[in-house]
Amino acid sequence: MSRQSVNPELGGGTPDSPLLPLEEARRRMYGALGRIEEVERVSISDALGRICAEDVVSPIDVPGHTNSALDGYAVRGDDLARSGDKALELIGTSWAGKSFPGEVSAGEAVRIMTGAAMPRGADTVVAQEQAESDGSHVRIGAGHRRGQNVRQVGEDLARGEVALAAGLRLMPAELGLLASLGLGQIAVRRRLRVAIFSTGDELRDAGEPREDATVYDSNRFTLHGMLTRLGAEVLDRGIVRDTRDAVRAAVLTAAGEADVVISSGGVSTGEADFVQDVLAGLGEVVFWRVAIKPGRPIAFARLADTLFFGLPGNPVAVMVTFYQFLQPALLRMMGVADPRPVPLMKAVAASRLEKRAGRTEFYRAVLERDERGELVVRRTGRQGSGVLHSMSEANCFVILPDDCETVEAGTTVDVQPFFGLV
Ligand code: AMP
Ligand code: MG
Repeated sequence: MSRQSVNPELGGGTPDSPLLPLEEARRRMYGALGRIEEVERVSISDALGRICAEDVVSPIDVPGHTNSALDGYAVRGDDLARSGDKALELIGTSWAGKSFPGEVSAGEAVRIMTGAAMPRGADTVVAQEQAESDGSHVRIGAGHRRGQNVRQVGEDLARGEVALAAGLRLMPAELGLLASLGLGQIAVRRRLRVAIFSTGDELRDAGEPREDATVYDSNRFTLHGMLTRLGAEVLDRGIVRDTRDAVRAAVLTAAGEADVVISSGGVSTGEADFVQDVLAGLGEVVFWRVAIKPGRPIAFARLADTLFFGLPGNPVAVMVTFYQFLQPALLRMMGVADPRPVPLMKAVAASRLEKRAGRTEFYRAVLERDERGELVVRRTGRQGSGVLHSMSEANCFVILPDDCETVEAGTTVDVQPFFGLV
């Protein structure tokens, strides 16, 4: 059944083989990813977070009619005074949604509201604050420019122009844009189906009695949250016991129903860790051990059409590896053309950060401004990889790269804000 066993060069076939650097692991992962090709049409009210499957060409000009940018008076540019001021006769009003039907001739003006169509003959709008009206005439001073305060037809978007490009993730602005074009539906890629399960004999579900030495399963819930925010369809396959047969059965079932499977726990080298072994027997393990902390044991494997991520059991390690591997991987698989590179910022470390060379370390931290307005970053509480609190309080990671060693307070470090991540 084994198509390919663990390649010892790929980040560790044995417990003592060298760790794969983070960037190399990511590169290999990107090389193994496929993309969802099925397309479906959904209504724009169901399209938030979905991925645009084809270019959307605007069926109309935006704005659809030449209109006023503010409340004022529509006039002819020829009638603007060069010096002194000039009185024009008011011949009617153009309302938003109810245009003035006539034409503006020399010496005439039309009262106009924001968004109302420009009457024929007029090409300029004078703001109401800059004019004086007695109801029958309006008096306008010098200093105006022909064409001012007018929004031209098609100025924002011309009919036939690409309004949204394929591969874009639909956010609220895009939903509004589609609606503004009169489009009620959009072609999007099928949602990515992701199955998740936790492994561990010690795990219990919230609500169950907690006997001796048991632990409530939190990983399925952080994963559920992060996947939901990414727009994936989540299949929760519960808790799996620490036996080879149970893990194998869970991997096979999940692989049969999902595009991606994510497990947590059981991926290191303990007596009760079967994930890596089972994967090696069922498919190709692309990498297994990566030089990062937290999160070192992380298995990435290909099983026929399904990709498998075996994350470590520690709750913080699950979130760190999700941010560093799964988020960019899943966005690509979902069809996002340009999964925005995670923005790195620079900030000053508020305290000393212990670090060993030879691996990338992620501190959970709070990025804020100090009294002088400078960006500083302060680590959150205890950093043990089981301490979810450190993640909950944090708003960013401090990333200390492979070659870096312990940094002292006051050093400038790389920061990856969570904002916009998942
Ligand atoms: P493992 O990677 O299976 O050796 O697990 C490492 C640590 O993470 C152990 O202390 C586990 O009890 C804990 N752990 C594993 N899975 C979960 C989970 N789903 N929720 C909370 N803690 C977990
Ligand atoms: Mg375990």
